[in-house]
Amino acid sequence: MPDPDNPPARPSTIAAAFGVAEDAAYGAVAPPLYLSSTYEFAGYDQARRYDYGRAGNPTRDQLADALAQLEGGAGAVITSSGMAALDLLVSRLNAGDLILAPHDCYGGTMRLLKARADRGHCAVRFVDQSDEGAVAEGLLASPALVLIETPSNPLMRVNDIAALARKAKAAGAAVAVDNTFLSPAVQRPIALGADYVVHSTTKYLNGHSDVIGGAIIAASAAEAEDLRQWASIVGSTGAPFDAWLTLRGLRTLFARMQVQQSNAMAIAAFLDRHPAVSKVHYPGLPGHAGHAVASRQQNGFGAMLSFELAGGVDAVRSFIANVRFFTLAESLGGVESLVAHPATMTHADMGAEARAIAGISDSLLRLSVGLEAEQDLIAGLQRGLAAV
Ligand code: PLP
Repeated sequence: MPDPDNPPARPSTIAAAFGVAEDAAYGAVAPPLYLSSTYEFAGYDQARRYDYGRAGNPTRDQLADALAQLEGGAGAVITSSGMAALDLLVSRLNAGDLILAPHDCYGGTMRLLKARADRGHCAVRFVDQSDEGAVAEGLLASPALVLIETPSNPLMRVNDIAALARKAKAAGAAVAVDNTFLSPAVQRPIALGADYVVHSTTKYLNGHSDVIGGAIIAASAAEAEDLRQWASIVGSTGAPFDAWLTLRGLRTLFARMQVQQSNAMAIAAFLDRHPAVSKVHYPGLPGHAGHAVASRQQNGFGAMLSFELAGGVDAVRSFIANVRFFTLAESLGGVESLVAHPATMTHADMGAEARAIAGISDSLLRLSVGLEAEQDLIAGLQRGLAAV
């Protein structure tokens, strides 16, 4: 029974205040950073809570507990990168286990899954998860794990997590959702039926483009413990300083998301009206194929979008040379706005054929919308578009 005098903290309160003013030694308000790689035993055969930094670290655990609460999971593991978080799930599978993954997933994810499959560590099948027939056919092959990425990168396709999770579970598969593009401020996959949530904390959770990190949150305590042990066995746990910085970034997650989403909505509407733009991919636009599902399963439409230039690759070059306030760089989710050309940057390794199947054209540009003033961002884009 919830205690009416002590109701649970709301998510934005957890992000802002988790671990604040809990320092028993000096009453430090900001949580201290523990860098020590090893811990003194209390005596013969008397390990304390922590013994060795690869297996456990107080700073890393604080971030893990904050993320587990935010995602509504039972526990979490903090890893050295988003790829390490994904690989924690993949490398734990048995040889021959099948992963059903989206055909338009992040390029690095596709590279990892193919590399693991090529070495016989698992099998992988890529399907268009918005195609019910393709999903049903994939599930007939009895996958051990269904990986969902929604909205997808870079085309912002939205998949119905609850519906996919229901079908995957009926087929006996575990369900993992990569929630990097939205963060728990906007989407909480465990409440929709996921068993695991994966993050590149490099992105919105840290939010300041100064950490590479990852996290995996498990719905069940037993799975969380197993993942924690597996991370210690393979040694993919994250560095304490990175965890400390990420917890610091997490404080402002909800406020950042609010402003960044609002900027993204204004930019999507602007691009949608511009004659040099042939297509805008943003679930916040009423004409987007995933608008209804996104409205239902998300608390906002996120701050990522992509668009296609009518003038093809020449237009892309001119735009990139003339746009202001958007830095040409990979990654996303920071306070600063970025523009990326997926075909030559984030998704180059996929190869032209896989890109064509996924619908990623050479005219496509992806924006990570930051915290700058909306008017400046639109003026900066206007400058780039005027040159195409
Ligand atoms: N998942 C998604 C959706 C991503 O966009 C990325 C990186 O861009 C990753 C995972 C991998 O994360 P990291 O770069 O932290 O290893």
